[in-house]
Amino acid sequence: MTIRYLLFDLDETLYPRGAGVMQEIGRRIRRYIVQEYGMTWEEADQMARRYHQEYGTSMRGLLLNHELDVSRYLTFVHDLPLDLLQPNRALDALLAGLPGEKAIFTNADRPHAERVLAQLGIRRHFSRIIDVVAVGYIPKPNPAAYTACLHLLGAHPAECVLIEDTGRNLAPAKQLGMTTVLVDGDPDDAADYKIPTILGLGSVAEAIFQANAGW
Ligand SMILES: [Mg+2]
Repeated sequence: MTIRYLLFDLDETLYPRGAGVMQEIGRRIRRYIVQEYGMTWEEADQMARRYHQEYGTSMRGLLLNHELDVSRYLTFVHDLPLDLLQPNRALDALLAGLPGEKAIFTNADRPHAERVLAQLGIRRHFSRIIDVVAVGYIPKPNPAAYTACLHLLGAHPAECVLIEDTGRNLAPAKQLGMTTVLVDGDPDDAADYKIPTILGLGSVAEAIFQANAGW
């Protein structure tokens, strides 16, 4: 089947881990739990880790096990300066040269995605932003997130490539029949293609489109 969609994770896929954005989001998640549920920092840290492990994100665990104003939560945890992210001209040029429709598929919310993409100077390349709200607050790696994403796109899994920094978020995509690309991931994680940074996508894109052409 021909590849029609390139689905990009957002955080730590389109910019490097060293930017510190996810670390700050992690701190804000813990601060929210401390303030909202009257816990110590240590308790909040344990809870955030446990929910992230069990449910894909801390948000999902809070939503299922506590009272949570989810839109207030998402706004709070993503309310951080993004000045460490710079326009990435090489990535802008790379995206401009890739065929197929490009979409963001993120466990964050749309306002955060819009800000990150604007800061990187690559917003124009993405026709869609599918955030955790659009898929019913069910984050990757829950299989329902992927089927909801495919439904929104009107796409067959075999028409899609998922590009992600987190191996556990690629596994359900592979299971469904998507092509998977791991960016700066754990060497033990499985993926069809592995690249050290998002700029490596250029070197594997041709192989991906050729391997899936003509069906
Ligand atoms: Mg990520």
